Amino acid sequence: MQIITHACTKCGTIVSANELESNRVMKCPGLGCQNVVRFDDLPADDREHFIENRERYDI
Ligand SMILES: [Zn+2]
Repeated sequence: MQIITHACTKCGTIVSANELESNRVMKCPGLGCQNVVRFDDLPADDREHFIENRERYDI
């Protein structure tokens, strides 16, 4: 299965699509990084893939 992640544009910290999807908007978990990452920041293809396969991404 394809792992969908998003790299913070400021610090490069990898955030999983699961976290983004459940929070929609969250502060970057990167140390000292104040950037905000959004599920909508994911490319449309990735969002679509994630939503279509959501049950497989449940932890
Ligand atoms: Zn960051």
